Amino acid sequence: MILEINNLSVGFHTYRGDVKAVRGVTFNVDEGEIVGIVGESGCGKSVTAHAVMGLLPEENSFINQGNIKLLGEDITNKSNKEMAKLRGTSMAMIFQDPMTSLNPVLTIGQQMTEGVIKSKGLNKKDAHEEALALLKRVGIPKAEERMKAYPHEFSGGMRQRVMIAMALICRPKLLFADEPTTALDVTIQAQILELLDELRREMKMSIVLVSHDLGVIARICDRVNVMYAGRIVESGPVGEIFHNPQHPYTRGLLNSLPRVDKVDDTELPVIEGHPPDLLYDIKGCSFAPRCGEAMKVCAACRPNNENMGKEHCVECWLPARDREEGHHE
Ligand code: SF4
Repeated sequence: MILEINNLSVGFHTYRGDVKAVRGVTFNVDEGEIVGIVGESGCGKSVTAHAVMGLLPEENSFINQGNIKLLGEDITNKSNKEMAKLRGTSMAMIFQDPMTSLNPVLTIGQQMTEGVIKSKGLNKKDAHEEALALLKRVGIPKAEERMKAYPHEFSGGMRQRVMIAMALICRPKLLFADEPTTALDVTIQAQILELLDELRREMKMSIVLVSHDLGVIARICDRVNVMYAGRIVESGPVGEIFHNPQHPYTRGLLNSLPRVDKVDDTELPVIEGHPPDLLYDIKGCSFAPRCGEAMKVCAACRPNNENMGKEHCVECWLPARDREEGHHE
């Protein structure tokens, strides 16, 4: 197993009180697998990713429960220095906006070569060759020439390719991609996702893809975790979640996706209401105030995690109700 997250809770001290952003998250990632985490902004998906990478803000974040294992080793309480080392060897991350991670005053060649020297201890010439090979591999045209260009001279899609090349320098076993295609148009988005899919096969790399967009997740993920208010409310193989969604929130997300087979121009349904304030403890199901199928029990007790078979799990009272009413298929 590449990554195991067990009952992880992460919070932030704020002037209003402690915000409980991640509330007991459990999932794992196997070798060569792409696992998606999907949900609205503020659901805890990026916080989970940052916790694994050791990138939570030091001043006010805390992990108050659970643990994270990378390649079998517990990394929950590692020091910043140890985490920085892991980020340069076993894992890497790419973000929505590559400009935040690239140095605007250095050429791409300088940044890539420096990265290779740091990570692999090669001499300058060999590091240059390695950097060039990586840029070619991620599909930068005229890579030799582009080594001399600055980040602002690249298009959004090409910059994301450069970021992927940089992340690959250390040959990571695990790559976190946090909304990597959100700022890109759909054609470029598809190309970047295809590239990630190719690379995971080629390098036997595992990827955790964080996105608010189920359409993006469906393209390349093997399994998906749907997050809401700091918890995973539904998880399973992508095909199973798409064709047999059980949680009303997942159904809402799916209904709000544009569909190519629908030609009418009626507006897409949205999920009414807002997620709960994570400053407070949540009694019962966190989705209850927005759920069209809520029952009395929903607001009073947190639903059990129901195993629906085929590795499909859902945190909702509906399967229990259906069983009781005897019309569960
Ligand atoms: Fe809706 Fe109840 Fe299921 Fe929550 S537990 S999603 S409120 S039906």
